[in-house]
Amino acid sequence: MTRIIDGNEVGNRIRNELEGRVDTLEQQGVTPGLATVLMSDDGASETYVSMKQQACDEIGIESYHHEIDPDTSSDVLMDRIDALNENPGVHGILVQMPVPDHVDEQAVLERIDPMKDVDGFHPENVGRLVAGNPRFKPCTPHGVQKLLAATDVETEGKDVIVVGRSDIVGKPMMNLLIQKAPMGNATVTVCHSRTTDLAEKTKNADVVIAAAGVPELVDGTMLSEDTVVVDVGVSRVDADNERGYEIVGDVEFESAKQKASAITPVPGGVGPLTIAMLLYNTVKAAGLQTGVDVTLP
Ligand code: NAP
Repeated sequence: MTRIIDGNEVGNRIRNELEGRVDTLEQQGVTPGLATVLMSDDGASETYVSMKQQACDEIGIESYHHEIDPDTSSDVLMDRIDALNENPGVHGILVQMPVPDHVDEQAVLERIDPMKDVDGFHPENVGRLVAGNPRFKPCTPHGVQKLLAATDVETEGKDVIVVGRSDIVGKPMMNLLIQKAPMGNATVTVCHSRTTDLAEKTKNADVVIAAAGVPELVDGTMLSEDTVVVDVGVSRVDADNERGYEIVGDVEFESAKQKASAITPVPGGVGPLTIAMLLYNTVKAAGLQTGVDVTLP
């Protein structure tokens, strides 16, 4: 029987744990706060930000939303980040990407106080992760680790293929999996658009983590029996339904399910974990900044 990994269930469990930590902070007079900053008219970005705000509200994290006209200069965004860095009621800052072309994305990431960088993208936090001493683990790959742990998939000694080498998913995923730490100790191969013969790599894997953004790139013919498959991809493709589109992952679910021992669906797999781990990092940030012990698993 193939196990369908339920991201909503795992995400809810983590949120419940975090609610207890929020109570601990409140008892010490601290309300954890997350600032979201949106400099875009993109509907998907707006949806992502509102989902994050709602998730904060549900567990008692105060969310502060800032919208910046995408036609204004990058100085406006930078000044806003400076103000949020100085605001003691804001423990986490999230600038929703992508920012407009005239804004230097890397400069934005570097402007955020690394102690408030709940996405874990500031070079200081990236460096700490690579060095094996992470502060804020990037939300999506951290969420994948949590999903694997909740499915009793041990990564130690396993051959893991990560498809995709982006700074937000593929690279931090690799860095987490090679740590000498729980849910690490894997042998990781990172594939990308220049990889030759992807199927040959995936067929030899114990675990395949697909994060390429290419609809149904990985199918059952590319997998061996009993592979664990985690699908990070989210793509909108045309469909003959009321909405005119459907959301699909990087894995062709039906054929992959025939081979996999466990597999995440899209939607309802990795997505809920990305949000849960953002809440996790915000609670952690509040603890670090106020000295309240919110030790997290
Ligand atoms: P990205 O920045 O576009 O990176 C995609 C990576 O995939 C690149 O490294 C690219 O290679 C590689 N790639 C593209 N085509 C490939 C192919 N045919 N074979 C092998 N590798 C290929 O994307 P991302 O931000 O990492 O996101 C990846 C996917 O995950 C997207 O669908 C995104 O929407 C989704 N996502 C989901 C969540 C969630 O919460 N569920 C969170 C974040 C992202 P090159 O480097 O050579 O270009």
